[in-house]
Amino acid sequence: MAKFLLFLVVIAVIYFVVRASNRRNKPPAATATESMVRCAHCGVHFPGAEAVSGDGGDYCCEAHRRLGPGP
Ligand SMILES: [Zn+2]
Repeated sequence: MAKFLLFLVVIAVIYFVVRASNRRNKPPAATATESMVRCAHCGVHFPGAEAVSGDGGDYCCEAHRRLGPGP
């Protein structure tokens, strides 16, 4: 009987560990599918949510938006 209870505890622990790791893995997967945009000044790629919109497109930061489109 004690072995059966230990078996149940092991199964429960595995279940919670798998569930916790699945929850932890979901946010990075969501950000990986997030659209990437290119800075019109320096050309670096970054998540669209961080984009600073300005003349000529999106920029990686406020400084590059002020400098405008690069070469
Ligand atoms: Zn930039």
